Amino acid sequence: MSKPDYYDVLGVSRDASEDELKKAYRKAALENHPDRNPDDEEAEKKFKLASEAYEVLKDPQKRKIYDQYGHEGLEGAMGGGGRGQRSAQGFSSIDEIFNNFGDIFGDVFGGRGRRGGAQRGADLRYDLTIEFEEAAFGTTKEIEIPYRVDCSTCDGSGAKPGTEPETCSTCGGHGQVRHSQGFFTLSSSCPDCGGSGEVIREKCPDCHGEGLVEDRRDVSVEIPPGVDAGTRLRLRGKGESGGQGGPDGDLYVFLDVEPSENFTREGDDLHVSCPISFVQAALGCEVEVPTLGESQTVTLEPGTQHGDQKVLRNEGIQHVRGRGRGDLIVDIEIEIPTDLSDKQRELLAEYAEVSDVEIAKGFFDKLKEKIG
Ligand SMILES: [Zn+2]
Ligand SMILES: [Zn+2]
Repeated sequence: MSKPDYYDVLGVSRDASEDELKKAYRKAALENHPDRNPDDEEAEKKFKLASEAYEVLKDPQKRKIYDQYGHEGLEGAMGGGGRGQRSAQGFSSIDEIFNNFGDIFGDVFGGRGRRGGAQRGADLRYDLTIEFEEAAFGTTKEIEIPYRVDCSTCDGSGAKPGTEPETCSTCGGHGQVRHSQGFFTLSSSCPDCGGSGEVIREKCPDCHGEGLVEDRRDVSVEIPPGVDAGTRLRLRGKGESGGQGGPDGDLYVFLDVEPSENFTREGDDLHVSCPISFVQAALGCEVEVPTLGESQTVTLEPGTQHGDQKVLRNEGIQHVRGRGRGDLIVDIEIEIPTDLSDKQRELLAEYAEVSDVEIAKGFFDKLKEKIG
């Protein structure tokens, strides 16, 4: 497998300026970032390749080697393409891309700043159990979720009122520190400020420097008809506050559904079991079956068998996506009586006789004894 050309990977010409390279990499990295393309191997590959290409081309010395000798030249320079490449292969988080590129990302995200601790609020999960009918017909639920909001004492800065967070001296406010490893310059989160670029000398007493405090809020959750156990509803922006201008996280509601007394669910179809006696099965009958709405009368033909099904079209669960509903399937169960009266035994014996059905030996003797 030959490696694609680094300039092609970034989609730039061979005489691209540093700025053009930066822009092209930024675009490729954000588009294909694993955080945005979970479980997309193709995107991950592209992301890694773009990072690798940029790692090489942004460095004039490496770029020169690459221009002259191609991939092989670099492999030689890096001692067989081993350890040196690790930094290009491992992916940095979107936040790290932001931190590394500073303000040039501004336009992508509507100009929001990346200074200080501005970051996306955490996503929250809430487990909600609803009734079977609520899942079938949809409902609105009010839930109370614990979450963290900007501390009002310090306006989310985390610094004691009257003081301000200071620019971190270790990283000069960049949030990243650089160190050399062989051929590469690596950057990692600043150990002193944790990547925020700021340190708080005097912490706010109410939030202990976090900038966030615990609160609870009521959230109204629209549950569409047709949901099932395992359905996840995502409420955008209902998660934790981002703080300092960062966007709010999302709230994920994980649904569980109580079982129904009458129905078992199979996708959007419902099953209801309908027990009848063997006499009803043999002679035919009418039975009342429950549905999600009014109960319905179903006619069973003479000679109905155990396991037979009657399908009531469109009486099942509404499809969550698209129109229409599933079916209601009536499962016939034939019950054999276990406690016959003498009269019933007598009649069945008679039935056996006229039908020429062999029954247990001695049955008639016992019957005669009993009847006398
Ligand atoms: Zn505070
Ligand atoms: Zn720092």
